[in-house]
Amino acid sequence: MELGVIVSLGNAEDNFKKLKEYGFTTCQLNSFDVSIMTEETAKKVLAASKEYGIRVSALWCGWSGPCVWDFYSGPHTLGLVPPVYREMRVRELKKGSDFAKMLGVEDIVTHVGFLPEVPTSTEYHTLIVALRELAEYIKGNGQYFLFETGQETPVTLKRVIEDVGTGNLGINLDPANLILYGKANPVDALDVFGEYVRGVHAKDGFYPTDSHKLGRQVPLGEGKVNFPLFMKRLKEVGYTGPITIEREIRGEQQVKDILAAKELLEKLM
Ligand code: MG
Repeated sequence: MELGVIVSLGNAEDNFKKLKEYGFTTCQLNSFDVSIMTEETAKKVLAASKEYGIRVSALWCGWSGPCVWDFYSGPHTLGLVPPVYREMRVRELKKGSDFAKMLGVEDIVTHVGFLPEVPTSTEYHTLIVALRELAEYIKGNGQYFLFETGQETPVTLKRVIEDVGTGNLGINLDPANLILYGKANPVDALDVFGEYVRGVHAKDGFYPTDSHKLGRQVPLGEGKVNFPLFMKRLKEVGYTGPITIEREIRGEQQVKDILAAKELLEKLM
C-alpha cells in the first residue's frame, strides 16, 4: 500500500511539487471541468509526474451541471442518476477516459449518484443501460470504471456492478462517505463488496443527525471510521492499492490535517 492525496488537476504541477515535499508518492487527480482535459494538459502532467516522482493512480472525473450534496436535491442533481443530465455526463466521462489514457491511467472514478435501491424499477434499468455503454467505452481504452461510494447501500452498489457486468468495474471506497450519507459502516461494507475495491479514500466523519443534511466531515481519526480495523479488513480482503487522503477543506488547515492523517495511517500500514 502506498499513500497519496487527491489533488486538483487544474494545478497539478504545483500539487506534485508539494506532494513530493510532504513525502507522498501517489495521487488521484480530480476535476469537474473536462474542458481542461486536453493533450496539452496531459503533456504537462506527465512531465511533472516524472519530475517529482508522483504516480497518478486514478482520474477522479466530475461532470457539469448542478450538484447539491444533500438528501433532497442530491438525488435530482448528482451523477448519472438524474436522466436530464445523463447523456451530457456520459459524454464528459468518456472524454475523461480518453484523457486518462493519454496519462497511462487505468482507473476512472466518479460519483454515479443515488443509485436506485429497487432493482425492478424502470429508473434502475435505464441507469444500468447507460452505465453499460459508458463502461464498454472505458473498457475499449483498457481501463476500469470505479464507483465512488456513499450515496447507496453497499449491496445496491454490488448489484449494479454485477448487472452492468462488463468486467471492468470497481469501487473507490470512501469510508467517510458511507457514514456521512448514513448508508453503512465502512468496515462491514467490505464484507459485502470487498472484492471490487480498487481505490480507497482516507477520510473521516460522522453519521447524519439532521435528516435533511449529510453528516459532518472531520480530520482523520476524529470521526466514526475505525481506521485500525478498516486497514486490517482491507488487507484481509486482499487490497494492495494506494490509500488516498481526501480532506475537503482549503488552506493551511488542509495541509495540517493531511500531514496528521499521513502520520496516523503510516502507523497502520
Ligand atoms: Mg471521496
